[in-house]
Amino acid sequence: MNVYYSDTHRQHNPAFELFDGGQRVPYLENPDRLDKILSALDKTAWAEIKEPLDFGLDPILAVHDPGYINFLASAWDEWIAMQPASDTPSQNLVLLPATFALRRKPHIPASVLGRAGYYIMDLSAGIVKGTYKAARASVNCALSAAKLIADNSGNISSLADQPASAFALCRPPGHHSGKDYAAGYCFINNAAVAANWLSAGGKVALLDIDYHACNGTQDIFYDRSDVLTISLHGDPDFEYPYYAGYPDEIGEGDGLNFHHNFPLPSGTSDITYLVALEKALDVILGYSPKFLVVSVGADIYKGDPLGKFNISHKGIKDIGHYISKLGLPTLVVMEGGYNNEDLGGNVTAFLSSFVGS
Ligand SMILES: [Zn+2]
Repeated sequence: MNVYYSDTHRQHNPAFELFDGGQRVPYLENPDRLDKILSALDKTAWAEIKEPLDFGLDPILAVHDPGYINFLASAWDEWIAMQPASDTPSQNLVLLPATFALRRKPHIPASVLGRAGYYIMDLSAGIVKGTYKAARASVNCALSAAKLIADNSGNISSLADQPASAFALCRPPGHHSGKDYAAGYCFINNAAVAANWLSAGGKVALLDIDYHACNGTQDIFYDRSDVLTISLHGDPDFEYPYYAGYPDEIGEGDGLNFHHNFPLPSGTSDITYLVALEKALDVILGYSPKFLVVSVGADIYKGDPLGKFNISHKGIKDIGHYISKLGLPTLVVMEGGYNNEDLGGNVTAFLSSFVGS
């Protein structure tokens, strides 16, 4: 299986984030996550690590607002130029606003802090010097993997009767980022940009199995019928992102009935999860997509520091197996997962069904 990865992700490494209550903690979405995944992939017989191609801005701007992308590109330089001289090294600084827009009024202020409050949803999406560069490389991984499955979708491999699949080892992740906002460690919605790119060649189903509801992906495709979006996640009644992921959110306009949320309770077990997953997969089968995009987050794993499910290692392998049985050309995109010690093993377990091992 081709795995698209860029070392550029290391340039996005904020010194801290803020938890509820104003607690300043080390950034959980850190480069060590991908080191652990790469090291596990290296031990398999099937993973081939590849550098992504550069797709430029067009596929990004087909999904995201140009004002937002311009903000991501220039925010750090604008903000750092305003900082008074101090002894704090710039690598210890993080651009985070203290005021958030709520979007009740359409004005986008001129000041960089005002725009930060407009374009950022929460305190886990801080910007540092290398954030934009890393986000661009991350989305290129998703697009490169999408191109591979699009190119190969007509050709069944001679080695096995597996349909085309590829893994985009993305960092930063993307699924909380909407058309014009960053949120939850996410800046550019890698899976959404790739799904939109693939939709030029046929219907796409995007299944998000990260522990957290994919508010950004939901927003991006909410009024579209050519990309079916489905999310299984911790119930937003008790879990981030709180304001999206409810079962009555089913799309609107042309997209009515083309978005489905499966909120699940705290402590969800393998069995409970797999029952919900089978329902989600039935919806995908009924849609008959040409391509499948899976946003995979290993934070469904028991004991994840940001999750409250009780899914075992075997459960994660089973989830991969169930999804692979759809038999669709599949792009797997990395989202969350913060138990770094078990992350590599869980990701390779998930992927193994797509390579028939
Ligand atoms: Zn997550």
